[in-house]
Formats: sequence, structure tokens, C-alpha cells
Amino acid sequence: MAKSKSDPKTLKPATRLISAARDFSEHGIVSPAVYHASTILYPTYQELKDRKQTYQYGRRGTPTSRSVEAAIATLENGFASKVASSGLAAITTTLLSFLKPGDHLLMTDAVYAPVRSFCDGLLKNWGVVTEYYDPLLGGAISAFMRPSTRIVYCESPGSQTMEVQDIPAIAEVAHKAGATVVVDNTWSGGHYFNVFAHGGDISVHAATKYIVGHSDAMMGAVTCNEATWPRFKDGYETLGQFAGPDDMYLTLRGLRTIDVRLERHMRSALKIAEWLRGQPEVEEVLYPALPGAAGHELWRRDFTGSSGLFSVVLRPQSEAALGAFLDGLELFGMGYSWGGFESLCVPFKPVRSARPWSRQGTCLRFHIGLEDPDDLMADIKAGFERLKIAS
Ligand SMILES: *Cc1c(COP(=O)(O)O)cnc(C)c1O
Repeated sequence: MAKSKSDPKTLKPATRLISAARDFSEHGIVSPAVYHASTILYPTYQELKDRKQTYQYGRRGTPTSRSVEAAIATLENGFASKVASSGLAAITTTLLSFLKPGDHLLMTDAVYAPVRSFCDGLLKNWGVVTEYYDPLLGGAISAFMRPSTRIVYCESPGSQTMEVQDIPAIAEVAHKAGATVVVDNTWSGGHYFNVFAHGGDISVHAATKYIVGHSDAMMGAVTCNEATWPRFKDGYETLGQFAGPDDMYLTLRGLRTIDVRLERHMRSALKIAEWLRGQPEVEEVLYPALPGAAGHELWRRDFTGSSGLFSVVLRPQSEAALGAFLDGLELFGMGYSWGGFESLCVPFKPVRSARPWSRQGTCLRFHIGLEDPDDLMADIKAGFERLKIAS
């Protein structure tokens, strides 16, 4: 167990990540044991009847789940956290815990696409009305509030298109109307944006990305403030959410090093994004950490750092030219998810319903991994050469 007696709130974030949840460790071993559990025995009939035992049943919590949850609550400066089997499971569990038939859900138009499918499919069938709003609305979201608005859902920066949202302004409007503000905080890793200090009530994560950090486990996390915790916890338990102990362990292990990893992702991404902006093939770099880029002012106001994920709008390219670019990349892999140590590049087409995406250019999303940025730039540069030849 860590010896520090300081109030964790006075420690800097990097220090808190290292000392968080260390009291779950035993025998002087630095990391906690991994408990594989379903049945948990009660020593006496009386104790079985009382149900006061710290650990009662696998799904209701083990030292493994409690340690990772305590560490994530520390990361996010929230009241309490739960982990789920994937980021998407964390998000759908949150929405199902708060919404009922007839409720109105205000959803950012730049939301992670599978969340859109959930809203337009299952939630719609269950009588919840989802309305998509322009992620750049800020306080003007007041025009969309209805008496039945239960949740305002934000994701900042937005998936693929990277719009930074004015969460304090949105939260002020939402709270006046009695709605709960849920923020997908995956991009910042939970380390560079504090949802609760900016008016959010619940932070949801694909911990699969930067928290796990090694592309080897699926995990979701939900952190609540005190007011939203009881209802969320009830929904989480009712829906039977949990996750596997080895994946929880990998999540806690990844979390310990997120500060140094993100710093490197950020430095390399800034260098590469700046270089990309000067390339003739590139129309725009969508990376709010880049001075002059869309969303930079809000990012600078609200975030303390940036991660390695950004997008690029190229001048319009043929499918053949795009294929030539992508297929020859040696250091950038092509595949979904991100946040691991390795670099990735995927093309995308924005899906919009509140405000149509008007750009004609070919869109690419880059995840800048922990390789040397000079090697990564050389790989992209060779890709642009292939693009030119195939155009
Ligand atoms: C990947 C992702 C999710 C979903 O996480 P999974 O662990 O893949 O289910 C949710 N939100 C954002 C922003 C993501 O990038």
C-alpha cells in the first residue's frame, strides 16, 4: 500500500494515478491480485441473512473490480465509477439507466456511430425520442430543450470530425431544464479533460482506448457525480453489467502509465499534424490542439493536453488513389479502435443528421502511436507519392 497520507485531492494528477487504489494490494506486492470469482461464500447463516459482507457475489463486485473502479474515479475526480465489458456497453447502460418511454434525448451529431445506431434502433423502439444537435451549438442548445428532455449527451471532441463542444455552456442550459449531462470523455483519456469541473454529471469512456492503452482488451467505464450515482448504479446492477477480471487488471495496469503515454502521443501528434497542414494534398487538419485549427480556443480553455487522435481532410481523391495511399503504409495499420501504442489510419465518411457535412474532400483519421514521429511522417510522405502517381 502507498504510504502517502496526503489528501489525494492536493496531489497533481500524475501522482494521483500512481497512488490511486493501492490499498487493494496485499503482502507488499505492488499490484493487486486478480480475483476470478462467481460464488463468494458466507461463513454463517446469520451473515448470509445480513448481506453486509464486503463482497457478496462476483457480479456485485470483487477486489479486482473495486480497485480499477476506485482508480478510474480518481482519474476523473468523480464520486464513483463502474466498469463494463466495453465502451459501448458503458454508454448504453448509462442511457438505459436514466431514460424511459416518452423521454427526449439530445444527442450530439458527432457521436460515435454505434451510439447513433443504439438511439435510432433500440431506444426508438422503446419510445425514447432522440434529437441530434449541432455539436457547436453551445448555449444555443436552449432552443432544443423540451420539458421531456432527460439527457443531453456530449462527446468532445466529436468522433472523426473533432468538434470541441462548449460543455460548460451546454451544462448550464441543461441543468436549468433539469436534464442530466453525459459526456463521452474517451479522447482525453480522462486525463486531459475533467468532465465534472466543466458541468458534466456523468463521464463515459471507452477505456478500451487510452486507459487500457495496449490494444489488448475491451473495457468501458462510467463515472458519476454524487447526485447521479444511485440511479446509475441501480441501472448498472439491474442490467447485469460487469467485465472479466483479467481485462479489469489490464485496465488498471494501463491507467498507471497514461500520463507518460499521452504526453508522447500528444507531442508526436502535434508535430505530425503541423507538418501535414503544410502538405499540398491536405485541405484541413482537424486537430483542436493545433493553433489555428477549428476548436482550438475552446480546447485551450478547457483541456490540459491532447491525445494522439486527429483527422485530416484531403483534397478529393479517387478510390484508387486512396487505396494506393492506404495499402502501402508500413507503420500505420488499418483497423478500428485506437489509443494503443501503435499508429493507425482509416478513411471515414461523416454521418450527419443535424447539419449536413458539406466537405467534398477525402477524410482520414490518424492515430499517432508511440513510434518516432519522423518515421511516421516518412511513411505518410511515401503514401502521398503513391497517391499522386495513382491520381
Ligand atoms: C471506441 C469508442 C467507443 C466504444 O468503445 P468500445 O470499447 O469499442 O465499445 C465509445 N466512444 C468513443 C468516442 C469511442 O471512440
